[in-house]
Amino acid sequence: MNKKMIPSMDEWLKEAKAHESAEKIGMYLTHNGIVRKSAKAKVRFGEENTKNVTGMQFSYDQEKVDAVIHFAGLKAVGESVAKPLMYYQNNLISTLNLIELMEKYGCNNLVFSSSATVYGDPISVPIYETFDLKVTNPYGRTKLMLEDILRDYAKVNEGKNIALLRYFNPIGAHPSGLIGEDPNGIPNNLVPYITQTAIGKRKALGVFGNDYDTIDGTGVRDYVHVCDLAYGHVLALDKLFSDCGLVVYNLGTGNGYSVLQVHAAMEKACGFPIPYEIKERRPGDIATCYASCEKAYKELGFEAKYDIDAMCRDAWNWQKNNPNGFKK
Ligand code: UDP
Repeated sequence: MNKKMIPSMDEWLKEAKAHESAEKIGMYLTHNGIVRKSAKAKVRFGEENTKNVTGMQFSYDQEKVDAVIHFAGLKAVGESVAKPLMYYQNNLISTLNLIELMEKYGCNNLVFSSSATVYGDPISVPIYETFDLKVTNPYGRTKLMLEDILRDYAKVNEGKNIALLRYFNPIGAHPSGLIGEDPNGIPNNLVPYITQTAIGKRKALGVFGNDYDTIDGTGVRDYVHVCDLAYGHVLALDKLFSDCGLVVYNLGTGNGYSVLQVHAAMEKACGFPIPYEIKERRPGDIATCYASCEKAYKELGFEAKYDIDAMCRDAWNWQKNNPNGFKK
């Protein structure tokens, strides 16, 4: 990532607006859904496995790297409980390899995808970055372990700038309808399950519990549009280039929506009813989770622009245009 490629907030918004018409953008998808923007920025794409140090080394040899954004990781809670070693292997080893390579090539700036999962069941909401960290499953443990590793690393290595970004519930899709969520198999997460029900691939959404202490008994989460989340990374990069050391930010909207509220917003986006049925609570779920985004606002200028209706509109637009996801 080259410093010169970072757009200003205005440029970003202008570009995002232009993207609303798919014809106007020079974007195309590679087979695995990675996006290359061929029109403006000169982005070189290389596909390497982060567990394969040699391949990554080759990528680094090609040009000077000012910063790394590390998104790669397994992320399904249930799968992590069933296959813990796979999670520890994949998430921990790949990140250690990456740090080692950054060290070798003199790259000091890292944005790391962490998660609200590191807060476990919080004592209150909104959740502040200063809250205690406690995790309840192997996936969450890999995120917390990696945060700890990065904290230890930054402590004894002056000049390392690391942003730990704790994502809340990313949903939605790129407004162009070209990039969206395409989970393998049965979706674990709420929004792809709803959109796959709406498109006719699933019979009905199962609502996991309606007896929580929330507005309508269903679980409340802080859903954030993927484009807002992406812009949070751009702002975090700017922060890193000011030599900030290690910093931690929540990325959400600061608002909580219940499962039934999201379901209703999706019905509005689709324009027809979407069947659902109430089921048992899902083990490990908590009632309510939403962020305080004050710190990200004050220190990064981060402010989510998309509301729940826009998130559902874009998620549905993606699903409608791509009923089989990236598979044709
Ligand atoms: N949820 C649901 N049915 C589903 C998937 C999720 O009712 O098929 C609920 C889940 O219990 C939680 C909310 O939707 O209250 C968000 O769940 P998701 O798995 O998307 O994200 P999480 O907050 O667990 O990371």
